Amino acid sequence: MENTAPKTNFIREIIDKDMETGKFDGRVHTRFPPEPNGYLHIGHATSIILNSGIAAAYKGKFNLRFDDTNPAKEEQEYVDSIIEDVKWLGGDFEDRLFFASDYFQQMYDWAMQLVKAGKAFVCDLNADQIREHRGAPGTPGKDSPFRNRSIEENADLFERMKKGEFPDGSRTLRAKIDMAHPNINMRDPVMYRILHAEHHRQGNKWCIYPMYDWAHGLEDSIEGITHSICTLEFEDHRPLYDWYLDQLGIYHPQQIEFARRTLGNTITSKRKLLELVKEGHVEGWDDPRMPTVSGYRRRGYTASALRAFCDEIGITKVPGISDIWVLENALRGELNKTAPRAMAVLKPLKVVLTNYPEGQTEEMCAANNPEDEAAGTRKVPFTRELYIEQGDFMEVPPKKFFRMTPGQEVRLRAAYIVKCESVVKDAAGNISEVHCTYDPATRGGDAPDGRKIKGTIHWVSAKHAVPAKVRLYDALFTKRNPEDVEEGHDYKESINPASLEVIERAMLEPSLAQAAPGTRCQFERLGYFFADPKDSRPGAPVFNRTVTLKDTWAKLDQKAPPVK
Ligand code: ATP
Ligand code: MG
Repeated sequence: MENTAPKTNFIREIIDKDMETGKFDGRVHTRFPPEPNGYLHIGHATSIILNSGIAAAYKGKFNLRFDDTNPAKEEQEYVDSIIEDVKWLGGDFEDRLFFASDYFQQMYDWAMQLVKAGKAFVCDLNADQIREHRGAPGTPGKDSPFRNRSIEENADLFERMKKGEFPDGSRTLRAKIDMAHPNINMRDPVMYRILHAEHHRQGNKWCIYPMYDWAHGLEDSIEGITHSICTLEFEDHRPLYDWYLDQLGIYHPQQIEFARRTLGNTITSKRKLLELVKEGHVEGWDDPRMPTVSGYRRRGYTASALRAFCDEIGITKVPGISDIWVLENALRGELNKTAPRAMAVLKPLKVVLTNYPEGQTEEMCAANNPEDEAAGTRKVPFTRELYIEQGDFMEVPPKKFFRMTPGQEVRLRAAYIVKCESVVKDAAGNISEVHCTYDPATRGGDAPDGRKIKGTIHWVSAKHAVPAKVRLYDALFTKRNPEDVEEGHDYKESINPASLEVIERAMLEPSLAQAAPGTRCQFERLGYFFADPKDSRPGAPVFNRTVTLKDTWAKLDQKAPPVK
């Protein structure tokens, strides 16, 4: 993977210092530790890009580790999709794909070590009682009445917890730290709970499951992680992360926190995304409107554009929302250079060139990409009957309408200058055809006498046009922060009713007839499009609009881009 980690950020400064002092013997080893309980979203993508980018920048290593310590919700479908997404984003974990559940025995042995050192005890309080004993910020908690059990009794009970002798919720194993500690996380936190549930990898082997804080540092330690990068909500848990590793005296990685990244007009919570899927607000996890990695991929985003976006927004300790146009601009910047151009008419209006010979076809030469000479040219057939965009014609135009209107010349891209002479209407008074004349002296689109033509529009030969389904997308939420709702209201109230527009019969130039699924191109003047990997077939294309050509931020509840 190319090194696209941001040139500098506070995390890299910490690592640079560690490299100088030789803290980890010059090693850098990061990880991405998802819980396999949903598909990855844009927030996860930024974390993958950060962690794998840092590993690459320091010639270090990057692990993918499933944090599958919770038996209830995990599914193979999620595991498979996460692996695919991490690879697609360029997260190169080589052969280092791990599952935290494979460490359960080691974790248990270490827990027993703490029990035997008098640093952990079996507690018979239930969850509510534990909460009541915990106290509050500024108010110390109360010791559990079971806190002073003998080491022998604790060891015996913990072993029997593991053997399955006790029902769910009846006992826990807790660290013995300090119920008056100013940091609530340090008030005798629970390490294990009893859960008689089947695990997706371990089956029924275990009926005690480790809590996140206990498990996470051990997982990092086992894998030799150097910098355990996580989001800010774990900052207050770092003392506990450190405490466990110090008590065990095992290899000790450094936890570093950064602010979660969120995107405007977007939800980044697996639970809510699942709800959108289950309730049918979208067509699945990979619906191109979803902020999931699979949704972006299907919409036509590139992994490199997502990396450029991460570079742009950087890494901070201050939570904030990035606007969609920042992401879209990163994408446009790339696609402008790489996407071949084509002509497509989304809402066709027939144009007849009354002075053009019937039955004649000319091959017009169009540049494949004006930004890239090496992309060459292609032939586009031109005939007497064409389609143009309905929106490019107005019978009664406003001022400064430079497209097609009676009596005004307009350029057909890469073809001729034409002039509208009359319109044909159906019985209901709707325009069914526009009749034009063309100027044969303007082949290629330029007038030999140098007369100025202000408007250029795209077109497709009616005889050669390839019908296609085209899907246009808009933000899934109208609110900049959909989760910021008043009591009694719900984030779903700001679902954008116009997030999807399906055009059943757009007309494409014939070069796209056999487009393979996954083909990317720019439809001139309309945006960047992507042949849907699932629904498109050569001969029956289906294109998704990845992004418009210019940003439409003003339509959305977003902050304006800076004036350039
Ligand atoms: P969600 O809130 O969607 O359920 P999560 O944090 O619970 O997300 P995990 O599977 O535990 O999901 O996350 C895996 C990793 O991704 C964690 O290290 C987490 O810190 C990171 N992560 C999750 N959301 C974001 C985000 N918005 N920005 C940056 N990193 C994130
Ligand atoms: Mg989580």
